[in-house]
Amino acid sequence: MNPRSIQFRLVAWYTGLLTGIFVLLFALLFLSLRIFLENDLRETQIRRTHQTANTLLAHVKEMGEPYVASQTKAWYAPEINDRFIRITCADGTLLYASQTPNDGSFNPAEVPTLSPEAASKISRKLKLSNGKTMLVAALNFKTSDNSTYVIEFGELLDPVEAMLRHLFLRLAEGLPLAVVIIAVGGYWLVRRALTPVAQITRAAERITQHNLAERLPVSRTGDELERLSISLNRMIARLDDAFQNSKRFVADASHELRTPLTILRGELEILAENKNLAAPLREQAGSMLEEVARLSKIVEQLFALSRLDAGEAQTEWKKFDLAELAQTTAEHMNLLAEDKKISIACETSQAVFIEGDRARLKQVVVNLLDNAIKYTPANGKIQLRVRAENSRAILEVADNGIGILADALPHVFERFYRVDQMRSADSGSAGLGLSIVKSICTAHGAEVEAESDIGNGSCFRIKFPLPKN
Ligand code: ADP
Repeated sequence: MNPRSIQFRLVAWYTGLLTGIFVLLFALLFLSLRIFLENDLRETQIRRTHQTANTLLAHVKEMGEPYVASQTKAWYAPEINDRFIRITCADGTLLYASQTPNDGSFNPAEVPTLSPEAASKISRKLKLSNGKTMLVAALNFKTSDNSTYVIEFGELLDPVEAMLRHLFLRLAEGLPLAVVIIAVGGYWLVRRALTPVAQITRAAERITQHNLAERLPVSRTGDELERLSISLNRMIARLDDAFQNSKRFVADASHELRTPLTILRGELEILAENKNLAAPLREQAGSMLEEVARLSKIVEQLFALSRLDAGEAQTEWKKFDLAELAQTTAEHMNLLAEDKKISIACETSQAVFIEGDRARLKQVVVNLLDNAIKYTPANGKIQLRVRAENSRAILEVADNGIGILADALPHVFERFYRVDQMRSADSGSAGLGLSIVKSICTAHGAEVEAESDIGNGSCFRIKFPLPKN
């Protein structure tokens, strides 16, 4: 899982926060339970001092001290119940003192005696030499005949400590399980909540300039993600509009420019051939004619691209033999190649049928051969190959010309891209030939690849899907 993803961070925060809250609650529970249990024990000890004072010591005169001592022992059985009891007279003599308890858990002699003044309603926590803690409540009691006694009741905090230890262990054992449940639950919740984000991302990845009519999925949940996808869809619609407008503009502009350019060309041709004009003027007209011809070619190419963008390549769809198309086109282009003493070898062994717009695919072969002739020096070789391979029809145009730099190769199909601006400008090219090839191939569901080795030549490969039957 990516630690920088929202999903991971949300789960981490959620788990961390809930674990923190749990630990805090456990600590609070632990502390309040300790306070409650200690208070409860303290109350019990205090209640017992009062009980002894009011029921026994209040009548000490009538019953006698030995009776009080024996009754105290009988009622509370301190040795059996691990309790500490001590009744001290005002002069410091002991009326009663419990013995070491049966389990030997503490030594009663370790509990320091209290003066009657210090004993008024106090409760102490004593640390004994064996490490145990005892809670001792004391009461300074005055009988009706003004005799003073200090009554002390004590008990070890052991059971309280044991219970708290047990609780702590259980909580410490349960906490990791709780953390796992929180993390798994959090992951599930966040994953569910972010599923529409993954769907939107996938759909957004699919949308390109060719399918701007597609929209992102909108989950009708009424939440922020629904609002986000609606906003993004509106943005895509606006982009689509802008894109269509610009495409329309290029199409309209190139269409509008064609007629005046044709007229201009005709007029310049007449001027260039007009013998009545002075030679320099005719020459000027001739070079203007070349520029206008170049301009006309660019306008024609732009017009062709805009029609391809509008999806017009699909109108003349039929099945035809690609090998035969390559053969005839190579024959047509041979004249051009011969001028440069370049040979075109067409290697097609059998018919390879594909479906598409034959005229436009002829344009593809013409553009590729034209480039191969343009960028191959005299006496070069061009190979045009057509074959069927792995349920694909493959068309290859390979030359042993100047080649293309590796940095430039990925860009050659971009509009108006020329590897060497000066060289291409001289040859009258505008960098649209391969864009047209790419657009026509995309419209035919074909892939175009280019390989090149600078100084050794280039190879352009087109893979067409074969017809279904
Ligand atoms: P252009 O009309 O300028 O030839 P293209 O779109 O046909 O434009 O080609 C783009 C660029 O790719 C060209 O400027 C050229 O430098 C390079 N290129 C195309 N085909 C070849 C080739 N067969 N050999 C070398 N370079 C080529």
